[in-house]
Amino acid sequence: MIQKTIDDKHAVRFRRMLESSGHIVITCHVRPDGDAMGSTLGLYHLLKALDKNAKVITPDTPPQQLRFMPGIEDVVVYTRYQEYCKRLMREADLIVCCDFNRISRQELLGELLEESKAAKVLIDHHLGPEPFADLTFSFPEMSSASEVMFRLIAAMGLYTAMDLDSATCLCTGIITDTKNLSVNCNNPELYLVMLELMKKGVDKSAIVKKALHTHSLNSMQLQALAMLNNLKLFRKHRAALVWLSAEDLERYSYEKGDSEGLVDRAGEVDGVTYSIFLREDTDCIKVSTRSVDNFPVNLICEKYFDGGGHRMAAGGKYHGSLQECIRLCEKIMPEFDSYLEPENRGATYQELKEK
Ligand code: 5GP
Ligand code: MN
Repeated sequence: MIQKTIDDKHAVRFRRMLESSGHIVITCHVRPDGDAMGSTLGLYHLLKALDKNAKVITPDTPPQQLRFMPGIEDVVVYTRYQEYCKRLMREADLIVCCDFNRISRQELLGELLEESKAAKVLIDHHLGPEPFADLTFSFPEMSSASEVMFRLIAAMGLYTAMDLDSATCLCTGIITDTKNLSVNCNNPELYLVMLELMKKGVDKSAIVKKALHTHSLNSMQLQALAMLNNLKLFRKHRAALVWLSAEDLERYSYEKGDSEGLVDRAGEVDGVTYSIFLREDTDCIKVSTRSVDNFPVNLICEKYFDGGGHRMAAGGKYHGSLQECIRLCEKIMPEFDSYLEPENRGATYQELKEK
């Protein structure tokens, strides 16, 4: 039996909101990943099976690797269909927000969310959710928003209504956020959730292959180039820094998603506790960080890169040149050395922040 983590009263309230709403919008963060699409589409298929009128709106286009997800062709992309999205947001009486904790994570679409008079429900697993929703399901200890969504569906008594498409999407979210059950995967309960999804007939091996282990040749060569030419190790700080300049991106005809996983690869170098990846985009330097041993990369992203995220997977942005950003990373490393100490590994986020 999966332990109950979601309050029954809140689950019942959400179910009533779904039942009484004629126009439901489900939405997620900008640059949607497998979990953003998994949690939104997982709910979308359930609502379709229940004959509810629901639409998924994303702030921008989902990446190519996720084209296999059932229902992705029905997604309305705000950057492509602005007027239509505005109408949907205006008509909505319920907006379900998945896999983000702050309205700003929706970038331009966030303005419509903020203006909307619809009831709002947040379903998420990031630290420190903003109190913008009427009902918030926030579980930072969970692997993914898709896991939260599964538990919520079960708590609403709707597991039997969940079809294979819904289960496939939720499973994709869990698989991508946990890198095929290899990070954030130590809670035994996660495997009970997986079991219930698999019972619906999910083809997990196909999901793993398509969502995690299929890349364009350009993407593989771009990442190889970065590992060969643009990787700098800072042994003293147990850090790895890797970057891609605008010129590198151009040379390998960069497309969205092509640098996915590079930050993890840099973090796999023996002796590295955290890795930072910098990508020179047209408007800013995109910063992406990963760590092990509870090293809080979200503190780095919050303090220096106008961002945040999870303790061991966070991101942000830098406005300035790539070289300046590389220098800044090097300069701030000593400040975070104390977090490498074993005594800080178990510390809570608040305790670390106060140090
Ligand atoms: P990624 O490195 O894959 O882009 O992002 C990893 C995690 O960091 C995301 O799940 C998200 O929680 C967080 N993140 C990434 N970029 C940003 C950002 O610009 N701002 C904030 N607040 N969080 C971010
Ligand atoms: Mn997520």
